[in-house]
Amino acid sequence: MMNNCANSQCAKPLHYLREGRVFVFDVQDPSIKTSGKPGHHLEHFWLCGACSQQFRVEYEPGRGILVVPRRQAQMSVKEAKQQASVTRALAS
Ligand SMILES: [Zn+2]
Repeated sequence: MMNNCANSQCAKPLHYLREGRVFVFDVQDPSIKTSGKPGHHLEHFWLCGACSQQFRVEYEPGRGILVVPRRQAQMSVKEAKQQASVTRALAS
C-alpha cells in the first residue's frame, strides 16, 4: 500500500518518510460492515520528494486513487487540516 511512490510512473521505493508527502484518505470499504452501514478504513499513500513537488493524491469514491498535477488541484479545508495533522505526526 505505501511501500512505493503512489505515482505509478515513478513507483520509487519508500525508505524515508521524511522525504515526500503522505496522503491519508477515509476509503469506503463494503467488505467491512458496522451495524448495517458500509464500513470504511484509512488508506495511506506516499509521494516521493520529486513527485510531491508536481503531483498530489486524491481519492474519488467509485474511482479510487488519482494522482493529479498540483496546479489543477484545489485543496479543500478538510484536506488541508488532514494534511496538517499528518505533517505534525511526521515531525514529532
Ligand atoms: Zn515518485
